[in-house]
Amino acid sequence: SSFNELPLSRSMQSNLSQLGYSEPTQVQAKTIPLAIKGKDVIAMAKTGSGKTAAFGIGLVEGLNARHFACQGLVLCPTRELADQVAKSLRQLARAKQNVKVLTLCGGVAIGPQIGSLSHGAHLIVGTPGRIQDHLRKGTLNLDHLRTVVLDEADRMLDMGFREVITDILEQAPASRQTLMFSATWPDAIRQMSSNYQREPVDVRV
Ligand code: AMP
Repeated sequence: SSFNELPLSRSMQSNLSQLGYSEPTQVQAKTIPLAIKGKDVIAMAKTGSGKTAAFGIGLVEGLNARHFACQGLVLCPTRELADQVAKSLRQLARAKQNVKVLTLCGGVAIGPQIGSLSHGAHLIVGTPGRIQDHLRKGTLNLDHLRTVVLDEADRMLDMGFREVITDILEQAPASRQTLMFSATWPDAIRQMSSNYQREPVDVRV
């Protein structure tokens, strides 16, 4: 299959070919059409499967760059993964002008993050604890959030982030789309899916 068969803008198609992505990976071929339709998805996907672009392409395609509000939020287990995801989103966002991607992780001073947030960002990538800190402080507003992504969801639950994640999801608009990516599907993942997703579509590759 080819990216041309997916419902993507011309600018995204040409950006993907510039990035050297000639055909979608399996998880991308299955997830991207669902994500673009606004469906909730629970995908079994490991590192190396192309999962980042599987959610990143839809995030970028769906956002309104003229609307300076957080429209997509990606939760990651670690700063390393968050930095990697943000880097991929910035590459994918070359398909659109003036898209701001911000990372918000713990272990660094919160002050500069508050400064960055005050300038606005379209897509935010972060670790759960620090995202929760910003929500509590009122420095991050999720009123315009369209999509939330749980990346490596099983790992985040293993690290004890379940309550923090559910707190964040409860502050997101009910109408949002929720995409979950997980290498394994233990009961805790199924439970979170049934509590926080609407008619999720299973993607297994
Ligand atoms: P990920 O599983 O998201 O960490 O991606 C693994 C690697 O595959 C990254 O280096 C991506 O840049 C690359 N990649 C993702 N999608 C594609 C694609 N469709 N074609 C070629 N490389 C890709």
